Amino acid sequence: MSVENQSVVPEASSHGIVIIGAGLAGWHVIDAIRAKDKDMPITLITADSGDRYHKPMLTMAISQNKSASDLVRATGSKAAEAANVNLLANTQVTDIDASTQQLQLVSALRSDPVYTNYATISYDKLVLAMGAHPIFPQSLPEDLVWHVNHIERFGQLQEKLASGRQHVAIVGAGMVGTEIAEDLLKAGHEVTLIDLNDAPLSQMLPSKATARIAQAVKSQGIDFLGGYQVSDVIRNSDGKLQVSYESVASGADSNIAQSLEPLIVDHVIASTGLTVDDKLPAAAGVEFNRRTGIVVDATTLRTNTSSIYAIGDCMSINGVACRYVAPLRAQAATIADDILGHEHDGYEHKPPMIRLKNKAISVMVTGVPQATGNWQVKTETDDELIMDLLDDNDVVSATVTIKAPVMPKG
Ligand SMILES: Cc1cc2nc3c(=O)[nH]c(=O)nc-3n(C[C@H](O)[C@H](O)[C@H](O)COP(=O)(O)OP(=O)(O)OC[C@H]3O[C@@H](n4cnc5c(N)ncnc54)[C@H](O)[C@@H]3O)c2cc1C
Repeated sequence: MSVENQSVVPEASSHGIVIIGAGLAGWHVIDAIRAKDKDMPITLITADSGDRYHKPMLTMAISQNKSASDLVRATGSKAAEAANVNLLANTQVTDIDASTQQLQLVSALRSDPVYTNYATISYDKLVLAMGAHPIFPQSLPEDLVWHVNHIERFGQLQEKLASGRQHVAIVGAGMVGTEIAEDLLKAGHEVTLIDLNDAPLSQMLPSKATARIAQAVKSQGIDFLGGYQVSDVIRNSDGKLQVSYESVASGADSNIAQSLEPLIVDHVIASTGLTVDDKLPAAAGVEFNRRTGIVVDATTLRTNTSSIYAIGDCMSINGVACRYVAPLRAQAATIADDILGHEHDGYEHKPPMIRLKNKAISVMVTGVPQATGNWQVKTETDDELIMDLLDDNDVVSATVTIKAPVMPKG
């Protein structure tokens, strides 16, 4: 083992359990192991500071005037000390050699050569908890466009927005885009929400349901541009961003994109989906699906490579990525038991209840929703819509419940 900087990577023949990634998934695994074993050596390697925070807060915090530091529940170093964990913060894993059970590390603060340390460490058991990263389509250059998939980037955006009312364009009306749109509106900003589809959440719900969401979003004052594609974002000489977009007509004979007057905005946020980097899984020989991420055994959360597990946004179970918080505790408990050699019943995956955090409309989904399929109306009134998705055997595989918000009295 070659270790170049002892202050970053302490000398030890093996680092026991090594976890890559200090998001909710990585920290859940540490909590689960420590609940059963206080002494097993654990090394947590993360490209960020390792600070503990609740990521779902990132779509609620701006209207509450909360900065990134307000959201940190414990700094990485404090949390690591409390959990008796060796934290290698600001450290990127660049390679995994599964045959020798070794990892290559490099400083994530490479802009300053003083901090650049290269090292190799070994593991007995490895947990991949490295999340997924935002997809930036070509039309959304990464250097001009924000994302809210990490507290650090969120913090920079929050600081910019704290200076007063600004115009923000959000590209992508999935859950994150729809939630942050309402949060920014509540914080007093002008918000334009743009999506390829006619309504928010169109990739998971049928049009009858999403039409209600579009209506609620628009009536609260968000400028929703449904059926449009952003073609370009450039910075003007006055510092504002010019967002060009075009209508994508869906008629059979009209594939012609129609250009419109560009939007001039202060900020653009991309919420156009997540993808998992295949570099480390490929290096480790771990089975990987380009769309859904690392493939694990559904009951043990082991990958197909010996001694390597995966959890959180980077993995998928039974062909479905599950990028939600609720299942993490049970998944982490299974990984902890399996690693510690304790008897366990195996993880039983239950799709979590999905709840949109918007207040303008209440949207709750159970099961595994998908936009297309045999959706049947169960209840339909002005205030409520309940629909079931039936599979080929007429068994309910998902249910969506949409309710008008209950207005406070007085
Ligand atoms: C804005 C927003 C709102 C959300 N709201 C909800 C909600 O209301 N309810 C819900 O259930 N879910 C919600 N989610 C999803 C949920 O937050 C995520 O599923 C969960 O936080 C993912 O955790 P993770 O640890 O897998 O990934 P991440 O939080 O992405 O953590 C990955 C970690 O890996 C590190 N890393 C990556 N690559 C490397 C490398 N090569 N070397 C070293 N370290 C590396 C990163 O630095 C990071 O620490 C939301 C997500 C977002 C973005």
